Amino acid sequence: MGNFLNNLGQKLATFMIGRNGVDTLAQWSIGAGIVCLLLDFLFGPLTGLPIFSWLSLAFLIYACFRMYSKNIASRALENARFQAFIRGPQAKMRSLSARYKNRKTTKYLKCPKCGQSLSVPKGKGTLRVTCPKCGTKTTTKS
Ligand SMILES: [Zn+2]
Repeated sequence: MGNFLNNLGQKLATFMIGRNGVDTLAQWSIGAGIVCLLLDFLFGPLTGLPIFSWLSLAFLIYACFRMYSKNIASRALENARFQAFIRGPQAKMRSLSARYKNRKTTKYLKCPKCGQSLSVPKGKGTLRVTCPKCGTKTTTKS
């Protein structure tokens, strides 16, 4: 049995040589496929339309196409474009997540002049804050 699994693993590894494999876009495509599958379970019976089911299938087929594709240069270019596309929203989500996690210890404010996001520790009385970007000084209750 161990030998069989070993051979299977080796065959799979040989099969994947020269292929794109799992990249960010494939991972997101699988995620979108799973989300569509869940939406289909939730709303499919209500609407009677198999649209989420088809979308799910399309995302999963696209993910497979990406993973088994031998045109690695084109897939890498698409993946880089996708990563550039999601970079902004991802950073925003990380920032919001950090703000929520630190909401009891940190007060967040914006620079009145340039809009730069600033943070000060909570419970330290009135603080004088200098914006690191434009140097504007403001006072705030923490
Ligand atoms: Zn500023």
